[in-house]
Amino acid sequence: MKVQGFTTSILHSDRSSTIEHGALHKPLHVSVAYGYHHTRDLAAVFQGSSQGYAYGRQGNPTTDALETKVTAMEGGIATVCFSTGMAALGAAFLALLRSGDHVVASQFLFGNTNSLLNTLADLNLSISFVDATDVRNVEGALTERTRLVFVETIANPRTQIADLARIGELCRARGMLYVVDNTMTSPWLFKPKEVGAGLVVNSLTKYIGGHGNALGGSVTDTGLFDWTRFPNIAQNYRSRPPALWGVTQLRKKGLRDMGGTLAASEAHHLSVGAETLALRMERQCANARALAALLSAHPHVKVVHYPGLPTHPQHEFARAWFRNFGALLSFELSEEINPFDFLDRLSIAVISSNLGDNRTLVIPVAHTIFWEMGAERRAEMGIAESLIRVSVGIEDEADLIGDFKQALG
Ligand SMILES: *Cc1c(COP(=O)(O)O)cnc(C)c1O
Repeated sequence: MKVQGFTTSILHSDRSSTIEHGALHKPLHVSVAYGYHHTRDLAAVFQGSSQGYAYGRQGNPTTDALETKVTAMEGGIATVCFSTGMAALGAAFLALLRSGDHVVASQFLFGNTNSLLNTLADLNLSISFVDATDVRNVEGALTERTRLVFVETIANPRTQIADLARIGELCRARGMLYVVDNTMTSPWLFKPKEVGAGLVVNSLTKYIGGHGNALGGSVTDTGLFDWTRFPNIAQNYRSRPPALWGVTQLRKKGLRDMGGTLAASEAHHLSVGAETLALRMERQCANARALAALLSAHPHVKVVHYPGLPTHPQHEFARAWFRNFGALLSFELSEEINPFDFLDRLSIAVISSNLGDNRTLVIPVAHTIFWEMGAERRAEMGIAESLIRVSVGIEDEADLIGDFKQALG
């Protein structure tokens, strides 16, 4: 069959496996356990020699259908879903790393991921946080004990872009596992596989789900990494083909043993959302460009951080690797406008901490999501006290622009 486009393949993927009652959506499977007529069949499922389900913590058919969609979106070979993006990240690190290992990570990370890596540092792993917008900083941090390199595509809230392709080349040359969190770009704007990532993490909660009505996370194996070069695969998972070693360990240790399982109902919501990812994302990116243009020309705005602006330090990275410039931006107001009063004047944009929702969401960064780290660390990270983050939604452009115009005064 002809290779289908992104949306066609997602939209029809439930019909490419066993269709139950002709249903166009994969049905919601709520059973915790699965019964068998023959004991040998259950044993075969346990032993991995036969496909099937045993206990819901390790997956269910509805989540499986979503995993198939995410695999298709990322061009990978297999995906494991988790209850949240953080569950996916926590499981990936804990399933794949051992005491004494070293990780090189971007210093511009989602705040909770940064905190998670600090927890790992307390468990006798060492983490080097580097400015990953330049591959030389990543290369300089590699040691004998480095097991993986971890970056995000576009960082939140300042929108720095990692040196994605060159870090990929470096990891390939060193036989190093390259893990990319693709949440901010989503597989519609960017496939980390194209720059050599071995594993791709997505918070499904954000753009893939899109409607802000379900939490979920995923880890996709792109098939590029040679797991025989990874010393941390447990002996009992090495009997399978090496391409499956990573996902097997992730599913067994990361999902079965740690239990951050995605509920079938949430998998269903996320699957429905995924059908329109490309459509929503195009609209969100177009709205973000229009808003960035308004803000950067406005006398009451000091600076705008958006990869679509030619003044953005990694604008050329975004042009080279991403289909579009993303739907998240941040900006600083000039002194004469109080950021709290400004936010209170917005009537369409919602004051809220999520991102990737269909609705435009705004938040004063220093006073909320970056409050816990303190003023000194914020200054190091270039987070101004007046910085406002905007996750741009799918509203009609004129309404959105009008709302920001009136609030700016
Ligand atoms: C939100 C987010 C996560 C965590 O996802 P949850 O589903 O909220 O747990 C991880 N990485 C990035 C880049 C995110 O934006």
